Amino acid sequence: MNNETTRTIRCPRCKELYHVVYPPRQYCPPCEEKREEQIQNVRDMIRENKGINAIELERLTGVPINFIMKIMREGEIGIIRQ
Ligand SMILES: [Zn+2]
Repeated sequence: MNNETTRTIRCPRCKELYHVVYPPRQYCPPCEEKREEQIQNVRDMIRENKGINAIELERLTGVPINFIMKIMREGEIGIIRQ
């Protein structure tokens, strides 16, 4: 019988295997932490620089623009111009 609450998943980012309890996280814990850190950096930068666009954000935070646009779509940060 399948265990429906625990699964082993390969992290799409660093390819490590990790266990998840439903609902699954997208990445393994170290990558989740890194992701949170990047989101926080972007949020701080937006707060300190009103009207900043995604290209400037990438330059100032080192966070890839694709990731910035992704977290914007996911509602992690407010709407910004590309
Ligand atoms: Zn990972």
